Amino acid sequence: MRPVTQYFGENVFNERVMKSRLPMETFKLVQLAIHNNKRLDSETAAIVANAMKDWAIEKGATHYTHWFQPMTGITAEKHDSFISPTAGGKVIMEFSGKELIQGETDASSFPSGGLRATFEARGYTAWDPTSFAFIKSGVLCIPTAFCSYGGEALDKKTPLLRSMEAINKQALRVLKLFGNEDVTAVKTTVGPEQEYFLVDKETYLARKDLLYTGRTLYGAMPPKGQELDDHYFGTIKTRVKNFMTEVDEELWKLGVLSKTEHNEAAPAQHELAPIFATTNIAVDHNQITMEVLQRVAKKHDLICLLHEKPFEGVNGSGKHNNWSISTNTGVNLLNPGETPYENAQFLLFLCAVIEAVDEYQDLLRISVATAGNDRRLGALEAPPAIVSMFLGDELEGILDCIESDRPYGAKAKENLKVGVHVLPKFPKDTTDRNRTAPFAFTGNKFEFRMLGSSDSVAEPNVVLNTAAADALCRFADELESAEDFETALHDLIQSTIRKHKKIIWGGNCYDEGWVKEAEKRGLLNLKTTPDCLPLLLAPKNVELFARHKVYTETELKSRLEIMLENYCKIVNIEALTMIDMARKDILPAVSDYITTLSDAVAAGNALELDMRDSFEFKTARELASLKAEAFKSLTALEKATREAASITAYADRSVYYKENVLTVMEELRASVDRMETLTAADFWPMPTYGDLLFGVM
Ligand code: ADP
Ligand code: MG
Repeated sequence: MRPVTQYFGENVFNERVMKSRLPMETFKLVQLAIHNNKRLDSETAAIVANAMKDWAIEKGATHYTHWFQPMTGITAEKHDSFISPTAGGKVIMEFSGKELIQGETDASSFPSGGLRATFEARGYTAWDPTSFAFIKSGVLCIPTAFCSYGGEALDKKTPLLRSMEAINKQALRVLKLFGNEDVTAVKTTVGPEQEYFLVDKETYLARKDLLYTGRTLYGAMPPKGQELDDHYFGTIKTRVKNFMTEVDEELWKLGVLSKTEHNEAAPAQHELAPIFATTNIAVDHNQITMEVLQRVAKKHDLICLLHEKPFEGVNGSGKHNNWSISTNTGVNLLNPGETPYENAQFLLFLCAVIEAVDEYQDLLRISVATAGNDRRLGALEAPPAIVSMFLGDELEGILDCIESDRPYGAKAKENLKVGVHVLPKFPKDTTDRNRTAPFAFTGNKFEFRMLGSSDSVAEPNVVLNTAAADALCRFADELESAEDFETALHDLIQSTIRKHKKIIWGGNCYDEGWVKEAEKRGLLNLKTTPDCLPLLLAPKNVELFARHKVYTETELKSRLEIMLENYCKIVNIEALTMIDMARKDILPAVSDYITTLSDAVAAGNALELDMRDSFEFKTARELASLKAEAFKSLTALEKATREAASITAYADRSVYYKENVLTVMEELRASVDRMETLTAADFWPMPTYGDLLFGVM
C-alpha cells in the first residue's frame, strides 16, 4: 500500500504539477486566473493545453472531455481522443489551446427550459481555470461552464461563478472600509457533508421502484427500524469498510479531501464529509464524490442510494452545506476576531448573512426544492420547510444587547458598542447544540441543512453568495457615504438586527409550536416544490439576480420551467412504476396467495371442519378486501396520471401531481403495505424492507 501522502492528488493537474511543467511566466498568468479572476489569453492557453496533454498521456489518458454540470443535476461528458492524423497513416496526440478553452456541443438533449430554440441546438462549454483538470477512467476531464449560443447559462456552474464574483466585489468594498488594504480577493468556502444508503446489489435489482425511481414506493416496516439508535456511529461492517476504503483512495487520487466517514442514524445509512474548499471546487468535488460513491459501490456488489428518502419510516438523507467567507489573506470573515475592530467586522458580515437569509427565505427554499426532498423537509428528522436561523445563546444575547443598547454580561457596565468592545469567543460547542435548525451558526461558519442528498450544492450557494453580496452592497453604500464610520456602523448593525431578528430562532424547529410561532412572525412555510417554485420569479428575486448579474430574467424563467418539468416527470415516473408493480407483481401475487388459502379452506370444509375462525379463512377475507381497496386506488391512479398529462402548463401540472397524484399514490401504498404484512413470505414478489435495510453484512 502506497502512503496517502504519495498519491494524494496524483490524478489532478494542480498548481504543483503546473509549476513543474509550465514556463514560469505562464504559470504566473494561470495563478492570476485562478486566484484573481484574470482572463487567460489564447497563447497562454495553448501552452497550458500542451502541458496538460503531455501530463495526461504520461498517465495513460487517450481522451479528453469538457466536464460540465447541466441542469440534469448530474455531470456530463463527451469524450474526444487526442489523436490527429499525420502523413503515412500515422497519428500524433494533439490538444490545442482552443480545444482547452472552448468546446462546442450539441446541446439539444440537455434541459434548457425553452432557452434553446431547436434550430439553434449548439451549446458551448468554456474552461473554468479555477477548478483543476483531472483524469478519471483514462479521460482528461476539464471542468467547464456550459452555455447556449446566446450566452445564457445552461448549467449550474456559470451562475455559481457569477455569484462568487458578486460577493467578491461587495465584500472587498466592505473590507476596504475596515482598512484591510492587503485583501485582494474574497471567496466563499463550502464543506458539504454527504449522506447516503448502501444496499445489496442483488436485492436492489429485484426492486423495480429502486431501479426506476431511486426510492421504495411500497414497503412495510420490518419489526426493527432505527429505534434502538444502534447504527449511528456504530461499528462499520467489513463490506462497508472495504467500500469506504476504496472510495477514499479514489477521492484522494482526485484531490478530494475526503475526511470523515461514519454510520448514520438509519440502518444502512452512512455519511462522508470532506474538508472544506473554495465553493466552486467544493461543488465539483461533491459531484465527483457522488459519482465515485456510486461507481465504487457497484464494484463491491452494493448500490449507493443518493435519494433523499429511499425508505419510509426511517430517516432520509440530506446534505449539510457548511459555508463561510474567506479572504485571500486567510481570514475567515465569519470567525469572531480578537480585537474590537475585528469583532465589528465580524458582526457586520454576520448581519449581512442574517439579512440575506431573511430577505431571501423563498430563494433558499427553492434552491433545495425537488420532489425527493419534499418527502424529507418537515418530517421529524430533517429541518422543516420554514427557513430560520440559529445563532446560539451567546451570540443571540450579544445581538439583543446591541439591538436595545444594553450592557452585555454581568460585569460590563457600559452599553455594548460595536467597534469598541471585545466580544467573547464562541466555542463551537455553545453554538452547535441545535441540530433541528435549517440554518445554524457553528462557531465560524454557517451550516445550511435543508439540502437533499442527491442535489448539486451549486444552487444553494448561488443564493447564499448573491443574497449576502446584496446585503454587503447595501452596507457598503451606507458606510461609504457616512460622516462618522463608527456611529454609522453601530446604527447599521442595530437597524439590521431590528429589522431581521424575526428569522432568528433558538428553539426546537421540529416542534409544532414553532410552526405557529413562525407564522406569527410572518416567515414563509413553503411545504412543497410546487408551492415554492413560482416564487422564483417574484420581482424582488428577479431584481436581486439582475442587480448582481447572476441570472437574467430569461435564465430564471428557463430554470423555473426546468424545475417544474422535472418535478412533474419524477412524480409521473413514480406513479407509473407503482402502477406497473401493482398490476404485474403485487396484485397477482396476493391473488395467488388468496387462492392457496381458499384451497385450504375448501379442504377444511370437505373434512367438515369449521373454518370460519381459521387463519386461512380470516387472512384470505382480509386480503381480499385489501386487494379490492388497492385495485380501486390503482385505477384511480391510472386515471389521475392520464389527467395530469393533459394539463399543458407545468406550473398547473405540478400542482395537480402534488394534490391528486401523490395522494392516490399514498392510498395505494397504504393498502399494499398492509397486504405485505399479511402475505406469506414465499408469495411476496420482491425483497422486503428488512432485506434491504439489514441485508448488507
Ligand atoms: P459536524 O458538522 O459533523 O460537527 P464539522 O463542524 O467539524 O462537523 O465540519 C463539518 C464540515 O464543515 C466539514 O466538511 C468541514 O470541512 C466544514 N467546514 C469547516 N470550516 C469551514 C469553513 N470555514 N467554511 C466552510 N466549511 C467549513
Ligand atoms: Mg454538520
